[in-house]
Amino acid sequence: MFSMFESKGARVATLIGFIGILASLGAAFFIRSLFSVFIIVALVIVAGWMLTIQVFYTLHLYREDRKRMEATTRLCPGCDARIYKSDDACPYCGIDLDAS
Ligand SMILES: [Zn+2]
Repeated sequence: MFSMFESKGARVATLIGFIGILASLGAAFFIRSLFSVFIIVALVIVAGWMLTIQVFYTLHLYREDRKRMEATTRLCPGCDARIYKSDDACPYCGIDLDAS
């Protein structure tokens, strides 16, 4: 089961996000006159952070999918199309393939 924090990028984004949020909330607490400005900054950081994690998550899924595809397929020696390793003949160019 995938955890969003398997990806190094997502972990770094989380760390930066936390620091940014804490810094903004801390600043909001200490600089009362700009309280709402820092709250908005914190919300923007939360939004950017979630978006970043989503991007890394999508990239991770893409890489996993690619790995799975590369494990079950190969390139046809005749036409370079991606075919299943279990194929006896290329479905694109019809070349006979050795059962491997
Ligand atoms: Zn082929």
